Amino acid sequence: MNDRPGGGERVVLVHVNFPVGNMEEDLEEFEELALSAGAKIVSIVTGTRRVPESKYFVGSGKAEEIRENVLAHKAQLVIFNHELTPAQERNLERLINCRVLDRTGLILDIFAQRARSFEGKLQVELAFLKHQSTRLVRGWTHLERQRGGIGLRGGPGETQLEVDRRLIRNRIKQITARLNKIRRQREQGRRARRKAIVPTVALVGYTNAGKSTLFNRLTGSSVYVANQLFATLDPTLRRVDFPEYGPVILADTVGFIRHLPHDLVEAFHATLEEVSEADLLLHIVDAHDEHRNLHIEQVNEVLEVINAKDVPRILVYNKIDLNIDAQPKIDRDDTGKIRRVFISAIKGLGMAELVTAIGEMLNREMVEQEIVLLPRQSKLRAELYSRNAVLAERIDDEGNCHLEVRMPREDFERLQGDQKASRRPQKH
Ligand code: GDP
Repeated sequence: MNDRPGGGERVVLVHVNFPVGNMEEDLEEFEELALSAGAKIVSIVTGTRRVPESKYFVGSGKAEEIRENVLAHKAQLVIFNHELTPAQERNLERLINCRVLDRTGLILDIFAQRARSFEGKLQVELAFLKHQSTRLVRGWTHLERQRGGIGLRGGPGETQLEVDRRLIRNRIKQITARLNKIRRQREQGRRARRKAIVPTVALVGYTNAGKSTLFNRLTGSSVYVANQLFATLDPTLRRVDFPEYGPVILADTVGFIRHLPHDLVEAFHATLEEVSEADLLLHIVDAHDEHRNLHIEQVNEVLEVINAKDVPRILVYNKIDLNIDAQPKIDRDDTGKIRRVFISAIKGLGMAELVTAIGEMLNREMVEQEIVLLPRQSKLRAELYSRNAVLAERIDDEGNCHLEVRMPREDFERLQGDQKASRRPQKH
């Protein structure tokens, strides 16, 4: 996974350990992020500080060490695992004579590469412009040649350094207006789904837990999957018809990550709303990851921030194929409530258990019944077919249509209310 084609920029990473925090794990994740962006890591500079220094974030000795590393390894980019002020970024670039990116910049770079929908791309561009607008100053020209680093080739913001703040402000306004429009459409879509009583099940989880793989497994579709952080940026909505429970909308969502910068949470608010408005969350956990409990907590934190903590949830322990002792199963607490489901998305193990758990949590009961439609009720007949609800059909001498249907009880009762379809006694 190291080298993304077309990537491979030579990068020096800088990670400063502050007294609080878990250095090793932070650094590990930082490396993952950089690799995920397509960087070729040539050197890692670490240090310890109590507080950041105002000029270079690090002390001047450490800044010099970074400069020497850049020279020695012919690096093209330095990435800090921290937020830098625009002034710090500038001072560092002057000293090192090399492009410097901070953590938000790195995450934005990854977002820019991964955004697939129009909305996602706009969200990234907006976040990028907001991040960049404070950094727009004279004196960039000496770095211009070195620009276009990992991921930003042709991406949002590549030419932003040449334009002035006024243009950026206009663009921000424009994007915000478009995003608002998309957001309204999204809300309409959600309302329509709710009216049709099609519940939404959203997949959430730490990046790399296996959300895309499970999404593909359940939908049989081919959403972009990669062993890279943030492989999925946009919630991809797909309808799935579970024979046992009828249709649900499955939403694949942005990969969660620790310390997701606040600006980014804001930028992706509309996307994340899909999660807070869902009827059920599948929280996918990489059961094989030694940091899984920490990741669960971090996902929970993000869920809290986006007001999704009260949405019913199933913990889905994925990748059980990597543990020979693990079996697909539903794990319940003493009261019989579902606690966890153990699966392997890649091998397709535990899918029946997962579907059972989803149906149980959504409290969906299916009915199987024969209904009779009059010839003028052809619209209802078409709707039943479009829902995959028809098991058999027979037309009688009067042209009435006898349909054997199978669908969630809620839907059935609603249709009955709406259409006053005549009904035969229930079949057993
Ligand atoms: P996402 O970031 O949560 O969407 O994760 P992905 O679906 O992209 O998966 C991340 C990596 O884990 C990929 O390399 C997958 O092939 C791998 N993966 C996903 N599910 C399983 C599984 O059940 N078993 C194993 N061994 N690997 C898996």
